[in-house]
Amino acid sequence: MPTDDMFAGDKFREECGVVAIHNHPEAEKLAYLGLHALQHRGQESAGIASSNGIALCMHKSMGLVADIFTPETLAGLRGIHAIGHTRYSTAGDSALLNAQPIMVQSNKGPVALAHNGNLVNAGVMRRKLEAQGSIFSTTSDTEVMVHLLALSREKTLPEALADSLRRVEGAFSLVMITPTHIFAARDPRGFRPLAMGRIPAVPGQIGDTIVFASETCAFDLIGAEYLREVKAGEMVVVGPEGVSSRFYSPALTQSSCIFEHVYFSRPDSKVFGRAVHESREELGRQLAREAPIDADLVVPVPDSGVTAAMGYASESGIPFKFGLIRNHYIGRTFIEPSQSVRDFGVKLKLNPVRAVLEGKRVILIDDSIVRGTTSRKLVRMVRNAGAREVHMRISCPPTISPCFYGVDTPNKKHLIAAVKSVEEIREFLEADSLSYLSLAGLKKACAEGEKTTYCTACYTGKYPTPLIDVEEILPVEALK
Ligand code: AMP
Repeated sequence: MPTDDMFAGDKFREECGVVAIHNHPEAEKLAYLGLHALQHRGQESAGIASSNGIALCMHKSMGLVADIFTPETLAGLRGIHAIGHTRYSTAGDSALLNAQPIMVQSNKGPVALAHNGNLVNAGVMRRKLEAQGSIFSTTSDTEVMVHLLALSREKTLPEALADSLRRVEGAFSLVMITPTHIFAARDPRGFRPLAMGRIPAVPGQIGDTIVFASETCAFDLIGAEYLREVKAGEMVVVGPEGVSSRFYSPALTQSSCIFEHVYFSRPDSKVFGRAVHESREELGRQLAREAPIDADLVVPVPDSGVTAAMGYASESGIPFKFGLIRNHYIGRTFIEPSQSVRDFGVKLKLNPVRAVLEGKRVILIDDSIVRGTTSRKLVRMVRNAGAREVHMRISCPPTISPCFYGVDTPNKKHLIAAVKSVEEIREFLEADSLSYLSLAGLKKACAEGEKTTYCTACYTGKYPTPLIDVEEILPVEALK
């Protein structure tokens, strides 16, 4: 019997980062560095497909970017154009088979494709395609796009890609490579970010290098200047003839993922045209205005709560202190002592600073509570280190509904805020007080309406797309 976690794994629980480089003598190296900067968006597998101007080649593997790509593998990818992808997926779906990019010899020539986000009609489309004779070799929704592309009656590749993108529903920020071109496109609601940048030509190079990445922190590492966002419903094509843009679909109401600002993106990135740091610090300020408390210290849960805690501290005037220290060198595997140590997992990652916490009334700030298990352990850890009071403050509203657009959240029944009231959660966490940021406060802090409007489905349960597959696949109670 499959469990609902298994169902969840295949289609909905994928977090990814993408990068693309057009026209650079070391395109594969820039793609590698770009992926390095995007490692936080997915730590399970990564891949690069490159072109030497004539043919494509690819290397992908399970693991971290720095481990997958050696000088030898990169030498085998030498090219002038490249795309890269890094991926994380939960529940039994992490096989190399589903790693991206996906490269095929199509009737429109060789292509490799990678995307960030989840399609919500991938299952329906897949069944249709299979009925027409398509044979799939992965369970990834990216392959659905590849088949649609190959089967499109449109004669040119840009038209065929536009045609296939019009047939899929959901979230995708996509990059595609052919021997001569890079394509970059976003879904018409603009769920996931995708930025475009430029590196001025080096001596001897004809034309600038054009780059795309999920987040601008990738641009900083490769020396690219930020140009703009790829817009919702837009497809940008970069080739020897230059850069062109078209809207393959009219833009729909913008539904950019607000969780990119809350947690997912790096604070040194710009996403959806807005600096993440600005949003995140403002989340903390807003939280201080909405949920003040008399205390001695503001302590972040590193790293996810740091920027919001800085905002909370500056707005409240309560000193900011690092009362928890993160070990940055945790490998994938570790040996647990056979005499079980209480809260071993979280202790491996975070350790309290007794000298900071002892005797203090502490405001502990984190970005979000999902299952509640981490926060509970942290509250206990801070208290055991001598804190007199522990007040938990969360820089977003209660997470009550799973994400189907590319953020890994468990099913509803595992989301603590879906099944418990704030007071019940406080009791579970054993905190002296607990407050979340309001939805209005969240939107305000992320400047809703200025450059984009946001998807807040994880806080409201109101999804911007029809949930075609989800209704078929998840048990009804998981959707309530
Ligand atoms: P939990 O124990 O499930 O409540 O975990 C909460 C912690 O997970 C918080 O510190 C968040 O920063 C972090 N978190 C929230 N969403 C995600 C996500 N999609 N992937 C990884 N970590 C997350």
